[in-house]
Amino acid sequence: MLLDNYAGMGYNKNSIRERREYPMSELIQKLKTTQNLTDSELKHLLETDAYDAELRLAADEVRRIHYGTDVYIRGLIEFTNYCKNDCFYCGIRRSNRCAERYRLTKEEVLECCEEGYALGFRTFVLQGGEDPYFTDERICEIVSEIRNTYPDCAITLSVGEKPYESYVSYYNAGANRYLLRHETATAEHYSRLHPSELTFENRRRCLFDLKKIGFQVGAGFMVGSPFQTTENIIADLRFLQDLQPDMIGIGPFLSHKDTPFCAFPNGELSLVLRLLGILRLMFPKVLLPATTALGTMHPQGRELGLQTGANVVMPNLSPLSVRKKYMLYDNKISTGDESAQSVASLTMSARSAGYEIVTDRGDAKTREK
Ligand code: SAH
Repeated sequence: MLLDNYAGMGYNKNSIRERREYPMSELIQKLKTTQNLTDSELKHLLETDAYDAELRLAADEVRRIHYGTDVYIRGLIEFTNYCKNDCFYCGIRRSNRCAERYRLTKEEVLECCEEGYALGFRTFVLQGGEDPYFTDERICEIVSEIRNTYPDCAITLSVGEKPYESYVSYYNAGANRYLLRHETATAEHYSRLHPSELTFENRRRCLFDLKKIGFQVGAGFMVGSPFQTTENIIADLRFLQDLQPDMIGIGPFLSHKDTPFCAFPNGELSLVLRLLGILRLMFPKVLLPATTALGTMHPQGRELGLQTGANVVMPNLSPLSVRKKYMLYDNKISTGDESAQSVASLTMSARSAGYEIVTDRGDAKTREK
């Protein structure tokens, strides 16, 4: 698929030919070979579109070295939208009285897995709000049942901030991976996105605990969240260098009409893509999803992401009846290609962007060091 709007930036699949036509600037060359830049170089790179085309080509080259054209798929099961937290950006925050709440039963979660397994998924991601109904005991019960039924699959949890002992119990029950975006690594910025009971310090503690326990860990942040500065983004990159996660999930901030941030503008596509490219060069082997938020903001957002270093997509496996209720931001897509039932059409669109959907577990190559 030739992506017209982005054709000028070199977005098509004949990248090898293009590579010869664009000599690489010193800045991108340095980022590619040393996997690092100074703060002022990063600031320069983040604030101009001048390098976007070559960044895309360099990112694609590096992803092909480590992952070829492989795109891993994860089946996302959004099993509860109850949440005790009140994050200012999030549509399922507890103060949103307009959100229609739901939780899936263990049986329903297992049905999602069954359907997903038949569709070729070998990773199940259980994501939800921080719902007190799902005690550690209930979470462990679900995890161990999935573990016993699908010993060949990876189980990923994304259920927020918990004490160390809870994480240990999930791990012992059979979960292998955990997604917890750090959201922003600047404490002051963190406090502008969250109520005072939530702190960056605890978020950071959780991520390092998870790593220590042995989980493959995913961190990440929203691009263009309210009050975000270039310096905040640089701090995010530095935090990620410190944490060395296996996956980095980024996507645009998208406003939700029933949240305190309803009037803030959405993040920008070009900055999300620029950051995907930078992340691929800084973390050559990391798993980098083309997120649902990216697919929501632009009809070809996900394909553009894949062409800029991303190598994971997470189609929705939740029952159709609840999909519209897990509304983190306005217009969140859930029934098109991003739905797990559309693996065939997802395969076609990935292929037309130059990549192949694969169905193995897709463990991070960061683990092979
Ligand atoms: N309770 C879990 C899952 C949260 S939802 C947890 O705390 O990890 C998953 C991610 O969606 C969040 O980490 C956040 O980065 C993203 N998200 C939430 N609201 C958003 C919005 N308005 N725009 C873009 N992304 C959003």
